[in-house]
Amino acid sequence: MTEKTINPMENEKLRKRLIEKTGGDILKCFSCGKCAASCPVSQFLDFNPRRVIRKAALGADIDEDFWPCVSCFTCNARCPNGIDIARAMNILRIEAQKDKKTARLPGIIFARAFLESVEKNGRLYELGMLAKYKIKSGRLLDDVEFGPPLMLKGKMGLLPHKSKNAKAVGEIFRRVREIDARGEK
Ligand code: SF4
Ligand code: SF4
Repeated sequence: MTEKTINPMENEKLRKRLIEKTGGDILKCFSCGKCAASCPVSQFLDFNPRRVIRKAALGADIDEDFWPCVSCFTCNARCPNGIDIARAMNILRIEAQKDKKTARLPGIIFARAFLESVEKNGRLYELGMLAKYKIKSGRLLDDVEFGPPLMLKGKMGLLPHKSKNAKAVGEIFRRVREIDARGEK
């Protein structure tokens, strides 16, 4: 764990919001660790859903990286208390973006660049997304060695290929924003 993902000053507000949005479920966590044991991401990265949920429930400083969660819902299926862990991760990510300090973290910049690319093109335009991420995060030289091999193998094109369903995808984004603005679950 290298970077704080939530401003500690916001913890209590966030805790209340998480409890409200998960119907009080996160308070049922008894730290059994089944979520972490079944999480496919935890096996490879320093990411542990049990720690995140526990710290959130206790109102502790959430100095955990919750960005690697891929919303696969395996943890939800395994949790003996039926806690919607995947949803809690999403709420944390939404809240982190609202915070001026955490909004500058590379994980958040990456997620934004990814979503903006999908919204615009109906699919990911890898090169455009990476360029935006690198400029905004200042990590210009990170992983540059992977670029040429990916391009040579046709995995990353120079120009975007817009999906024929780009309009429909844009509409999904618009509706989600509407729902979020209304404060619905
Ligand atoms: S599986 Fe459920 S109860 Fe167990 S640690 Fe994870 S969130 Fe808590
Ligand atoms: S939803 Fe997220 S936290 Fe849960 S198992 Fe999948 S990657 Fe792990």
